[in-house]
Amino acid sequence: MDFNLITNAEQCHQLIKETVSLSLVYYSHIPTAIISLLVGLFVILKNRDLISKVLLGISITFSLWLFLDLIVWIGNYNTVLTMFVWSLLGMLDILFFMLSLYFVYLFIDKRDMPFNKKVILGVLFLPIIIFTSTRFNLSGFTFESCEAIDGKSFLDYIFYLEIAIAAWIILLSVGRYLKVEKDSKRQILLLVLGIIIFLLSFFGAGYIAGQTGNYDYELYGHFGMTVFMGFLAYLIVKFKAFDIKLLGEQALIVSQFALIAAMFTFATSTTNRILISITLAGTAIMGWFLIKSSKKLDERKEQLQIMAGKLSQANDQLRTLDNAKTEFISIASHQLRTPLTAIKGFISMLLEGSYGKLIPQQEDVLNKVYSSNERLVNLVEDLLNVSRMESGRMEFKFASWDMDKICQEVIDTFALRAKSCKLDLEYIKPEVALPELLIDGVKVREVISNLTDNAIKYTLEGHGGVKVKLEQLGENIRVTVSDTGIGIPDTELPYLFAKFSRGKDISRLNTGGTGLGLYVGKSMIENNGGRIWAESDGQNLGSRFIIELPIKQSEELLKKWG
Ligand code: ADP
Repeated sequence: MDFNLITNAEQCHQLIKETVSLSLVYYSHIPTAIISLLVGLFVILKNRDLISKVLLGISITFSLWLFLDLIVWIGNYNTVLTMFVWSLLGMLDILFFMLSLYFVYLFIDKRDMPFNKKVILGVLFLPIIIFTSTRFNLSGFTFESCEAIDGKSFLDYIFYLEIAIAAWIILLSVGRYLKVEKDSKRQILLLVLGIIIFLLSFFGAGYIAGQTGNYDYELYGHFGMTVFMGFLAYLIVKFKAFDIKLLGEQALIVSQFALIAAMFTFATSTTNRILISITLAGTAIMGWFLIKSSKKLDERKEQLQIMAGKLSQANDQLRTLDNAKTEFISIASHQLRTPLTAIKGFISMLLEGSYGKLIPQQEDVLNKVYSSNERLVNLVEDLLNVSRMESGRMEFKFASWDMDKICQEVIDTFALRAKSCKLDLEYIKPEVALPELLIDGVKVREVISNLTDNAIKYTLEGHGGVKVKLEQLGENIRVTVSDTGIGIPDTELPYLFAKFSRGKDISRLNTGGTGLGLYVGKSMIENNGGRIWAESDGQNLGSRFIIELPIKQSEELLKKWG
């Protein structure tokens, strides 16, 4: 042991050079300290709350530790300086361990650390303040290994305190981890993993170096801080931790820039330095463009999100308006129905001669009034159906129905009309008797009637006819209503069954209609467990409307309507 301290110990220069590579010393100290300081400063500039201050505290204490440690390594072997700097390392060590614990508390609990915990930390820190400048910390300097001589108890105290703080962090986070929901779980895991990697690699590397006498290990331990900073950057980008908006591209470019810049620490020649500078400049320029374009993209994304929000609000308002309109139509239709029924009754009585015999002109006019009234009755019925359907008040009553009978009835109803339009109306019966279906036959008949009515309506007088075909296809019964009429263009097919959907070309047929029949029909068929669709070979080539109903009705519908 030698207490004779000097300011330039030649043998120590030699010894250090033999023990470690100086490039590694620089590489493990300078970039790590700069990255840690930059992240701390970046966070505090964006956000001034307590957690950012504590993070800055960690980065400052850690960088200071690195700076002082670097002096120990390369301090021009000034043993006086080495002794002074060495004596401060333990204190800084414990400081950034304790600040890390404080940081974890703030991050997980989102509020300040409880006062009693702070007191505990203060009490544990007290001996370090008291003994740092005494012989209990460093008792001298030995020129054999060119090291300060640590006081055993002081060193042990620091050693066990570090273990205790790391254990405290782990226990605290495991406890909280089990209680929070999934998204927070991931954040806790990432942060604590980052901190633990940082502290344990630092602690473990120092320990291994002490045990083996190989100080390279200690130097590698510093990189744990860079890993921690990487985790922090990820938390910021992914979860907007610390309420900071940072794009992944920005974080990536900056870290790449830092990594390349770090290569200066082991550049040995001027050529090396020039090449690194060129690479750095290239990275900076490309990074700048990348960040600019990704910022623009991000802005667009935000605008889109705002617009989507507004759109969904407008949608809600529209839905409310739509409901109000349905309600209005329902009330209005109910009020209309009563007088229309009365009109129908009186015209029928007039036509039957209940109020005296009519002359042919009167009969002709009354017939026209009757058919106009009928159209009005149908229109009101359609509107009522829509409002019932949309408010979920449409009821279905399932029973056994013979589809052949239904089709025959429809054909009988429309025979006269088809004849007056000079159209053939043909019913193609199945070859063998079909099984009966469990359906609401009244509703299904209404839909087939509507299809047949449309088929006649949309076929020019004297231009062909309408066929209704009934058949069994596998597990389904199929009804096809086909005509030789105006057909449906491809562009209109997908919208045919939508509310108020009316073809562009139908005006030339001058037919009255609302575009509600198919809309209501589709819902009626689907509530019967079937499906309905339309086919057409094109304009003026006729159309086919097809209904398929299952022979075996689904349990779900039977339960609902059976
Ligand atoms: P509406 O007949 O009252 O207009 P629908 O819902 O019954 O309402 O029919 C919607 C639209 O589908 C019609 O306006 C018409 O354009 C088209 N369409 C329906 N049936 C036929 C058909 N057989 N041939 C050609 N177009 C049809």
